[in-house]
Amino acid sequence: MKGDVLVVGSSPAGISAAKAAARAGANTILIDRDLGRFNHPANTLFEGMASRMNDVAYKSHIRHRLKGMRIISPRGSSICVDGEGYFLDREGLDGHMLREARESGVTQLRCEAVGSRLEGGLRYLNTTDGELGPGLVIDASGVDATIARGAGLSPMRHPEDIAWAFEATVEWPGLGDEEYFEYWIGSISPGWKATFSPGGGDIATLGVFVRGYGRQVQPFFRRYLRHFQRYKAERYGEVEYPKVISVSMGGDPIATLPGEIAGNALMVTGGAAGQSGLAYSMRAGEICGSLAAKAIKSGDISIGSLRAYEKRWWAEFGMEYRLGRASLETLRSMSDAEIDRLIRGLAGRNLMAGGGQLRKAISAGLNVASIMPSLPIGLIRRMMNG
Ligand SMILES: Cc1cc2nc3c(=O)[nH]c(=O)nc-3n(C[C@H](O)[C@H](O)[C@H](O)COP(=O)(O)OP(=O)(O)OC[C@H]3O[C@@H](n4cnc5c(N)ncnc54)[C@H](O)[C@@H]3O)c2cc1C
Repeated sequence: MKGDVLVVGSSPAGISAAKAAARAGANTILIDRDLGRFNHPANTLFEGMASRMNDVAYKSHIRHRLKGMRIISPRGSSICVDGEGYFLDREGLDGHMLREARESGVTQLRCEAVGSRLEGGLRYLNTTDGELGPGLVIDASGVDATIARGAGLSPMRHPEDIAWAFEATVEWPGLGDEEYFEYWIGSISPGWKATFSPGGGDIATLGVFVRGYGRQVQPFFRRYLRHFQRYKAERYGEVEYPKVISVSMGGDPIATLPGEIAGNALMVTGGAAGQSGLAYSMRAGEICGSLAAKAIKSGDISIGSLRAYEKRWWAEFGMEYRLGRASLETLRSMSDAEIDRLIRGLAGRNLMAGGGQLRKAISAGLNVASIMPSLPIGLIRRMMNG
């Protein structure tokens, strides 16, 4: 079968998909309405996540190394979870990934996809620069997934649970030299977290990721900024507000799950498919791109054939994502007082002892159960309900 792989979105998932498809021999085109403008917000990666992907390009784009994360309760109790992490130079990393994709044979175009149509089992992609294809379209355009939705797919389960984010890059003397990522939970940022990620020197990012309050979450950010300043006054003394250098907004599908991510001559990957996070979406893109090329070679790009991608993704990541969603739902159900009690109880314990991810999860679960026995049971029930 002759046909192109047409990837929409130079997101980490999109670039990884395009690169994998081209390396597996498919004629591949990657389009993005902002190609090369480098405006993606995600910058922090922990080794536990990074180890899930094959691509190690991030290692040459580390701006600041982290020793772990501090989880902070509404009243300021905290626990430390050690683990290597990185604040990345996203612009450098994206440039690197695009260059590698080009060298692998991926054609890159700056234009916007506006829809697609299926004819004779092949898909044409309509863009602001005319029609591309026919071939197999991969939608990697982020949480709105306009191409997949336009083609009638619902690529994400629980889209109402996208966490809407407002994140600012800030400057404050010495702030970026801290070594722990901070993760605030409770009503300061309902449904998920407020974050502090030190980026080296005077630079850091501060953000809120909120579920259940719509896309406009700046009011939570303003409140968090005041809270953060008071919290840091202990360490830095009375200081001016951090100077905001730039802001970004967007959706993070952390608490969603992939839905229909394969259609006729259509696949969905990354945030568009509810596959949240830099590392995880890059690995998902890699699986997607290599299976796209394989399907083209086999001459069958019907939904029946492309479902191999769904199966492969669920086999590799399904359990982790279900656990992640159930944990965030459990957290959402807790009051600030309960979160305080839990974090106070966990302080000073070796929360995640043990080698592999599973042993760490069991260790964390046992620690939590010793303070609030009903929590792990609720979590397992939520996992079963998906
Ligand atoms: C503020 C914020 C901070 C985050 N921080 C982190 C973090 O520190 N670590 C982490 O692991 N994850 C983080 N995440 C989650 C992470 O960004 C995503 O899960 C991950 O990067 C996957 O990207 P994506 O698939 O959502 O695509 P996006 O990064 O949203 O990229 C989609 C691309 O598609 C293009 N596009 C969209 N529509 C079209 C169209 N119609 N035609 C052409 N091009 C189009 C866009 O221009 C864009 O380049 C964060 C998310 C947000 C919102």
